[in-house]
Amino acid sequence: MPHILLVEDDRPLAQGVADALAADGRTITVCGSARQARQAMESPIDLAILDVGLPDGNGLELCRELRLFSRAPVLFLTACDAEADEVAGFAAGGDDYIAKPFRVRALRARVDALLRRAVGDDIVERGGLRLDFAHADFTRDGVGIALSVPEQRLLRALVSAPGQTLPRETLTRQVWGLEAVEENALSVTVRRLRKKLGEGYIQTIYGVGYRWGTKDDR
Ligand code: CA
Repeated sequence: MPHILLVEDDRPLAQGVADALAADGRTITVCGSARQARQAMESPIDLAILDVGLPDGNGLELCRELRLFSRAPVLFLTACDAEADEVAGFAAGGDDYIAKPFRVRALRARVDALLRRAVGDDIVERGGLRLDFAHADFTRDGVGIALSVPEQRLLRALVSAPGQTLPRETLTRQVWGLEAVEENALSVTVRRLRKKLGEGYIQTIYGVGYRWGTKDDR
């Protein structure tokens, strides 16, 4: 399950973001200061969301420190144009920023995109499946399977949160972003994916969404 560090001193904002990301199956550590963040950075993280203006420091400094030992992508939260300019001049290739005020939905989409890139290097092996996302190389019992881009994204979303039920709305956004899609697009994609992977990997949780795993995991 991806672990996200959120450093933001505006408590209601931090809570809103944390709740939304938790609903997407992420594990969140929330810190209200640079000092707390330094402590939290001692645990492995997959993505950091850093407010630029902190009471005892700033997000750019934290990012610089994080970069010494971690390649986790960073999403900066900026409060004014000057901060946005500063971040734009600073951010490394994989990083991004979002200006306040922002819609939580937009932030979730950015987080999805950053994590998708970050977890892209993993190779997952399970049962007869071998899933190499970085090279889009997928095999079942040694035989190659062709997956469309939406199928790959859906698979990656599920695999990134093993044993976790992901709501339909979350998965739809992770696969198609903010694009408008037909209401049954997700069900259709799940059906195709099951056919290609075999039964038992993608569980339907009725009225909620889907989960990666087998019955033995419970
Ligand atoms: Ca702040």
